Amino acid sequence: MAILPIVIGPDNPILRTKTKKVPKVTKEIKQLIKDMIETMHEASGVGLASPQVNRTERICIAVIGGKITPLINPKITSKSKETDIDQEGCLSLPNVWLMIPRSIEIKLDYVDLQGKKQQRKLMHFDARVVQHEVDHLEGVLIVDYPHSSLRSE
Ligand SMILES: [Zn+2]
Repeated sequence: MAILPIVIGPDNPILRTKTKKVPKVTKEIKQLIKDMIETMHEASGVGLASPQVNRTERICIAVIGGKITPLINPKITSKSKETDIDQEGCLSLPNVWLMIPRSIEIKLDYVDLQGKKQQRKLMHFDARVVQHEVDHLEGVLIVDYPHSSLRSE
């Protein structure tokens, strides 16, 4: 296990790179996920995506229902029209807290650590965390949202 350095800054190119699908859950992928979990713990986060540790695999981890859940090739297949707005931070943007609108309910497809396809319906906090992490896998950060402001007022 290893704690990985977290990439910082909205203009860092790796944070703007779209990730690539993982063809197979190899030993190396499992090791990367273990390291990401340890890194997230150390940073007291509730989610972490591979670009934040300088990688390009389509992988993130998220606290879902209080449990750290590895999400390989996650894809949000539907989002509720109904949204709510809440404060979000990001381990790659220290001291930035923005009010971000997110769908209240989403449906998510992903592959688990055993290489099995999973489908879940997520709501509220769980849905918010996963939407934030899946954004990272597309190179999107919270500062990109229209209602966000970097000033703290
Ligand atoms: Zn983030």
